[in-house]
Amino acid sequence: MRSEWEGTSASRGLALGRARVVYSANLEIETELLAHGAVPNEVKRFEAALNVARSELQGLRDRLSGALARDLAEIIEAHAMILDDPDFTDGVVALIRSENLHATAALKRQRDLLAAEFDAIENPYLRARRDDVDHVVQRVFAALQRGGAEPERKAGAGGEILICETVAPADLAQLQEQGLLGIVATASSPYSHTAILARSFRMPMVCGVKGALNLIHDGDLVLMDGDRGQIIVQPDAIDLTRFRAHQRELDKTQKRRAREKASEARTKDGFLIHLHANAEDTESIALGRRLGASSVGLFRTEFLFMRRRELPSEDEQFRAYRDAVIAMGGLPVTLRTLDLGADKALGGPLEIAHEENPALGLRGIRFSLARREVFATQMRAMLRASAFGPVRILMPMVSSIDEVRSARELYEECMADLRTTRTPVADDVPLGIMIEVPAAVLISSELARVADFFAVGSNDLAQYVLAADRNNAAVVNHYDPLHPAFIRMLYLVLDNARQAKCPISVCGEIAGDPRYTALLIALGLTDFSMHPNAIADVRDALAELNRKTLRAKLAKFLHASDRETLRQLLDS
Ligand code: PEP
Ligand code: MG
Repeated sequence: MRSEWEGTSASRGLALGRARVVYSANLEIETELLAHGAVPNEVKRFEAALNVARSELQGLRDRLSGALARDLAEIIEAHAMILDDPDFTDGVVALIRSENLHATAALKRQRDLLAAEFDAIENPYLRARRDDVDHVVQRVFAALQRGGAEPERKAGAGGEILICETVAPADLAQLQEQGLLGIVATASSPYSHTAILARSFRMPMVCGVKGALNLIHDGDLVLMDGDRGQIIVQPDAIDLTRFRAHQRELDKTQKRRAREKASEARTKDGFLIHLHANAEDTESIALGRRLGASSVGLFRTEFLFMRRRELPSEDEQFRAYRDAVIAMGGLPVTLRTLDLGADKALGGPLEIAHEENPALGLRGIRFSLARREVFATQMRAMLRASAFGPVRILMPMVSSIDEVRSARELYEECMADLRTTRTPVADDVPLGIMIEVPAAVLISSELARVADFFAVGSNDLAQYVLAADRNNAAVVNHYDPLHPAFIRMLYLVLDNARQAKCPISVCGEIAGDPRYTALLIALGLTDFSMHPNAIADVRDALAELNRKTLRAKLAKFLHASDRETLRQLLDS
């Protein structure tokens, strides 16, 4: 059920994500008094915990680099100073000695004393430094409780909104790297270091949302408005429409800013190239987003169907696709329909009958059209995800116009059904195809009339053009992207798409391999989709290339008769 909560805006922006509820480490203090002889050891225990906290901060400092280092260095410095401040440390030791308190009890007492002093300060910025004391206390507490054990590692936070009392800046930095989208804090203040950091990350934060820890549960869908300091749990269709409108505005602003700063991938002569991410879960999406991908160019969905007895339901699929969409924070996500068959045999409920030659068998779209009920379930789930952000649907292994027409019929039926039941769906969900079969390349001008976009699956295209199994080590020499036939195929589809004004990207491995970047630029490619970790390398490779010079060499690339000539051309 939808519910709405108010807090204080600490960092602007809207975010939609799944809740990750985190309770602060319980300050469970040891209340009994120490035997007199145990006091010196307890002081040592406290000092050891201080040292652990110091070395954690040092470790953090060492790992920081770039802009993040600048943002966090001062904050870490402030925390390190508290750890070395006699007002703090001597106070705790004195309490252990004079009152025979356990270190945890003394730490809590000292924290309360300092907190009261901070609360009495009028200046809100200085008052907010109390948060810093709390974060340091939490760190020392955790070290005392662990007693020398390593801290627990948490799973990635891609597509999530943190619901917490407060979060230490250093932890926030780590969560941001993992793809956290926003913070809802029951305590904290807009002046806290955490809020300052959230603003520098452009991550929405709302603080002082009383009761959030009791009201919101792990996995709840949360729409947060950092501008108004408002939280909506389980948002409805109207909320989502408002959110989508905001995303579109933001997208426009970001594109304008990117143009102004020219910070995207560009060739040396200034030509803009779009780099997209290939992904298959929210973690890889978060990585792509963090590394500057313009969109998810390929989201493989086979993982949802693997190693299980029953097919994933429409709702289960919907949640997975929706989470992928929200993890991308408003940038487009290209969801690929099931590419079952060949090397992607799954076992379980969708086992395909034995085939002599599975790579040439019931694969990709052929399988989906043969099992329309499976296809419709997936299509509906994907369409439903489009209410949460821009979605494109991509179909693999297409080799004829009829396949696209049949699939589009099914797409229209699903769309009509969802509209009849007033299920939120975006108005515009492009339906595209993978170009990975030579037949599709040869009829690409015609395919461009029935498909909204192309994504070239160069991994499969190479294996089908060269008749070399991509997974067979014995023919690895034949599976060669620098084969003239493959290059001419690639050029043909790029050129046909250009003439038909059909958007086209390449999402096979060559798109993320800097050795082939120059070749792809020469052939006219402007959209590369790759594993997120390859983005930085390809961006660097592009910065070294002169597109005009490479385009002028196109004829030479196309007329090269063998690998060696192509290699020399690339080296020159
Ligand atoms: C491809 O064939 O190039 C591709 C991207 O798809 P997959 O590797 O999943 O077959
Ligand atoms: Mg493929």
